[in-house]
Amino acid sequence: MNFFTLSKRALLRGLLAVALALPFAAFAAETTVKLRLMETTDIHVHVMNYDYYRDQEDHSFGLSKTASLIRAARAETANSLLIDNGDLIQGNPMGDYMAREKGLKDGDVHPVYKAMNLLGYDAGNIGNHEFNYGLDYLATALKGAGFPYVNANVMSADGQRNMYTPYLILERRLKDEAGKEHPIKIGVIGFVPPQIMQWDRRHLEGKVVAKDIVETARRFVPEMKSKGADLVIAVPHSGLGPIEAAGNDENASWLLSKVPGVDAILFGHAHLLFPSEQYKSVAGVDVAKGTINGVAAVMPGFWGNHLGIIDLTLSVDDAGKWKVANAQSQLRAVFRMEGRQRVPVVDNDPAIVAAVKHEHEGTLAFVRKAVGKTSARIHSYFALVQDDPSIQIVTDAQKWYVENLLKGTEYDKLPVLSAGAPFKAGGRSGPDFYTDIPAGDLAVKNVADLYLYPNTVQVVRVTGAQVKEWLEMSAGIFNQIDPNSTAEQALLNSNFPSFNYDVIDGVTYKIDVTKPRRYDNDGKLVASDSHRVVDLAYQGKPIDPAMVFAVATNNYRASGGGKFPALDGKNVIVESPEENRTVIIEYLFEKGAIDPSADNNWSFAKPVKPVTVVFESSPAAEALLATTKGMTKLGPGASGFMRYALKLE
Ligand code: MN
Ligand code: MG
Repeated sequence: MNFFTLSKRALLRGLLAVALALPFAAFAAETTVKLRLMETTDIHVHVMNYDYYRDQEDHSFGLSKTASLIRAARAETANSLLIDNGDLIQGNPMGDYMAREKGLKDGDVHPVYKAMNLLGYDAGNIGNHEFNYGLDYLATALKGAGFPYVNANVMSADGQRNMYTPYLILERRLKDEAGKEHPIKIGVIGFVPPQIMQWDRRHLEGKVVAKDIVETARRFVPEMKSKGADLVIAVPHSGLGPIEAAGNDENASWLLSKVPGVDAILFGHAHLLFPSEQYKSVAGVDVAKGTINGVAAVMPGFWGNHLGIIDLTLSVDDAGKWKVANAQSQLRAVFRMEGRQRVPVVDNDPAIVAAVKHEHEGTLAFVRKAVGKTSARIHSYFALVQDDPSIQIVTDAQKWYVENLLKGTEYDKLPVLSAGAPFKAGGRSGPDFYTDIPAGDLAVKNVADLYLYPNTVQVVRVTGAQVKEWLEMSAGIFNQIDPNSTAEQALLNSNFPSFNYDVIDGVTYKIDVTKPRRYDNDGKLVASDSHRVVDLAYQGKPIDPAMVFAVATNNYRASGGGKFPALDGKNVIVESPEENRTVIIEYLFEKGAIDPSADNNWSFAKPVKPVTVVFESSPAAEALLATTKGMTKLGPGASGFMRYALKLE
C-alpha cells in the first residue's frame, strides 16, 4: 500500500460520509464559522484593581485586569463580540465620588466609559444598580458610552413605550477558517429584574414600569427573527433562578433558555460563576459545556474578576442560513489560587490606568477625607464578651435604612429590630484581626473596618419566639460554664465563627452561659429543655412570642448562612440590592457625627455564684481594661493573643 492509495481511499470515504449525513443538502454546502462571545458583568465601578475601603491594591478584581484577558482572548480568534451586562456605575467609592462629589455634567464621560471605550465593546445592558442615582444621572452617564445599550423590559409609565432600545441587530462579517467572510445579523437583547420598581421606587415610581423578563423575551425574540437576526444573544441582568416561573422573576435566566430562538445567554446579577459545579444538579444544566437546556450560557462573577467566554461553532449554508452547531463556555479569572492566596495572572492594562488616573486620584482623596466624626474610639476587642460599639453602629445604620425602606409598604407598621455580628474579632485570623478606629474623624475607608464583607441588606419577618431562637443560636458561641468549678474555664467556643455571633438590637436580653447550649454549630437543636437567652424584652416588657417583627440583617444570614433556626430564606420580605457598608456610609453622611457607645442591650446573666472565665483578645486590648467591668489581664496566650479574665457575678 502506498501513500497515494491511502489518501484517495480516505477522500472517497470522506465524501461518502458527507453524502450520507446530508442527503437533502447536496447543493447547499455548509461552512463552519467560529464566533467568540465575551462578557463582563457586575463591574460596579471597579475599573481599577483597587479596594478603596482598605485603601490598597487588590489583584483579585478590576476591569484594568479583565482588559488584559479581553485583549488576549480576542487575539486568539478571528471573530468576537464583547458585551457588558450592567451594574456598572454604582457599587464602590468611585461610583459615589462621581455621583455625589464630582458630579456628571452633560458632556462628561464617566470613568467606566473612559475605560470601556478603549476596549471595543459591541453592546451594553442596563443593570438594576444603574438606577440607584436616578434616571437623569443614568441618561447622562449612558451618553458617554461609545457603544450601544439595550434594555427591553423598562417601559414608560403607561407601559406603552420602551424607555431604551429593546434590542440591536448587529451586522457583522464573520471569517471562516479559509479567511472567507460571511455576513451575519446578530441580535442582542437586554433585561433587568422588574424588582427595580421596589429597590429604586423613589427614583422610578410614576416614571417607568418594568415588565416580566420572560414575557418580554417571548414578545421581542420573534420580532428580532423577523427582522433578520440570524442569531439571538440574550443579556439578562438576572441570575439562573427557578425552573418554574412565578411571574416577575428576579432571576430568570433558566426560564429564558426555554424561550424559542434564544441562542446564547450572557447573564449576571447573582455575582456567581457559570459554568461551575454549584449548578451541576440543576435540571437541564450541563456544567461541562456550560449550557442551560442546550443553550450556551456564561456568568462571569463580579467586579471584573472573571471574563466570560462562549465559543460558538456556527454553520452557514450557501443560502446564508446560520445555526449553532456547538458551544463551549469558559471562565477566565484575573487571579489564580495558590493555597489560600490569590496570585495575579495578568497585569493592569496601562491605557485604562492612564484613562481613569484623574478619577482614581479623586476617589482616593474622597475616601481618605472625613465624612463624619466619632466621639470615642471604636474597637472590637471585647465584642464577644460585652455589648460592642463596632456592632452598634452597624445595627443603628441598618435600622435607619430599613425603617425608611419599609415606609409606605405593607410592612410599614412592623417594629424594626437590627442584627449584626463582629466580623473582625481575632479567632483564626489572628490577634491583629480586630476593628480599632481612633476617636475623631471618620472617613469612608474606615467603614471597611466596620463592615468587612460586600453583603447586602435583607429584611426578615419573624415572631418574638423566633427572635429568641435566633439569639439562642448566637449564644452557642459560649462554652457551658460550671459556676461551682474552680478550674480555668474558657468562655469562647473556638469552633464557632464570630461572624455568626449575631447581636440583635431593639430588644434587651441576658445570656446564661451556665446552661447547655440549645443549638450546635450546625443549627441542630441539641438541648431542647435548655434556654440560655433569658429576660428577653421588647420596650421593657417580656417579648410576646406571637408578636411580629421585621429584622434588618444581611443576605448571608437571611438566606440560611450559619444555619440559624427559622432563617431559611422563606421569611425574607425585602431583598435590598444595597450593600450594608453602603448603608453605613449613607448613615454617616446623614448624621455627620456619631456617638459610638453601645446601648448595653445584652449582658451575661448572673450565675448562681460568681465565677471567673477566660477569653483571648489582642494584646492591644490591655490598655482598654479600665473601661470594662470585671476584666483583668492574665498573660500571653497562643499565637500572639493575650489572655484575659472576666468575672461573671
Ligand atoms: Mn451586581
Ligand atoms: Mg447594642
